[in-house]
Amino acid sequence: MDQFAVRDGELVVGGERLSTLAARVGRTPFYAYDRGLLRRRAAELRAALPSAVKLHYAMKANPMPAVVGLMAGLVDGIDVASAGELKVALDAGADPAEISFAGPGKRDAELRQAVAARVLVNVESLRELPVLAAASRELGVPARVAVRVNPDFELKGSGMKMGGGPKQFGIDVEQLPEVFARIAAEGLQFEGFHLFAGSQNLRAESICEAQQKSYELALRLAEGAPAPVKFLNLGGGFGIPYFPGERPLDLAPIGANLSALCDRAMRDLPGAGLVIELGRYFVGEAGVYVTRIVDRKVSRGQVFLVTDGGLNHHLSASGNFGQVVRKNYPVTVGNKVDSTRREVASVVGPLCTPLDLLADRMDLPVAEVGDLVVIFQSGAYGASASPQAFLGHPACVEVLV
Ligand SMILES: *Cc1c(COP(=O)(O)O)cnc(C)c1O
Repeated sequence: MDQFAVRDGELVVGGERLSTLAARVGRTPFYAYDRGLLRRRAAELRAALPSAVKLHYAMKANPMPAVVGLMAGLVDGIDVASAGELKVALDAGADPAEISFAGPGKRDAELRQAVAARVLVNVESLRELPVLAAASRELGVPARVAVRVNPDFELKGSGMKMGGGPKQFGIDVEQLPEVFARIAAEGLQFEGFHLFAGSQNLRAESICEAQQKSYELALRLAEGAPAPVKFLNLGGGFGIPYFPGERPLDLAPIGANLSALCDRAMRDLPGAGLVIELGRYFVGEAGVYVTRIVDRKVSRGQVFLVTDGGLNHHLSASGNFGQVVRKNYPVTVGNKVDSTRREVASVVGPLCTPLDLLADRMDLPVAEVGDLVVIFQSGAYGASASPQAFLGHPACVEVLV
């Protein structure tokens, strides 16, 4: 993967040769996130999208506190999905005015914390409204709310659909008149709408279409809303390429589309800011997972490289995090990337289950015990999205370099 340089036959991560970095970390397996690449990605997005659009980081993609701290200085706001994430975002110094809290099943205590922190709550259920109102009265702090809308359309070409049809996310468009009435009756501070159609989309035209439809829907809903729209979150869903044949997302048409929508919003919804929220696109390509080979076995002619980490740290790379068909993530032997000696080998983790497969019969540099297997595109939905306790192996380390 050419976002990482190669020096002396080794991958360079965070400016350091992989074997030196591994020595510095002190043990494997580990995730390493490259600061320079995180900064570059944020700058590329700023350059491609209109400056009027606010960029939010959806921190569930990578909640490592040091990463959130870096991102807080690069983006306009942080989107959190639990009180635990809210704590990390506040600790990182994110401005509460630009933090929003979405997610189904927010507990009463979490809603109270959100009011006390003065962050925006993306309401996903009528049940949340009286809880927010009670917290607001008790604390003497206004409860800021946006309504997360479950639209009446889907985002085409998404890896995961999170809007349209029956969903646990957001509130169905049909129920909004009642929601607006309740927001007004409870005296909550209405600030806008949140629409999130889906995730991991590599087709610019379908992202543009979803943004347009979301805008039109918000415009229609704004007429009946209890207060002017200050904040219109059009979602995100920008994908990154993982598998052979996948092409990076083309940002140019998305930038043009958002420019047009910003112009329209200036006329239709004066004072409203458009927000895009991205997780994976900010961090996914900046991270690698590094695991050491502890055994090399040949079974009936097939080579197995057995590593000290596997699906317990990197569920996505094993193909068990929502994928329908298992495909290999990009993988290499990070301390032998240039090697001309290559072979077909499978990389498996140490867990006693056939699901623990990191690379299935891939063409790789010939590797030995002690070599470092690298899985690219691992900056999002890695450590925190994996069952680390499964089988009782040590947790992985995470470093920001
Ligand atoms: C998960 C999630 C995101 C981030 O999705 P990515 O595919 O990582 O960009 C953004 N918004 C909401 C509401 C989410 O649930």
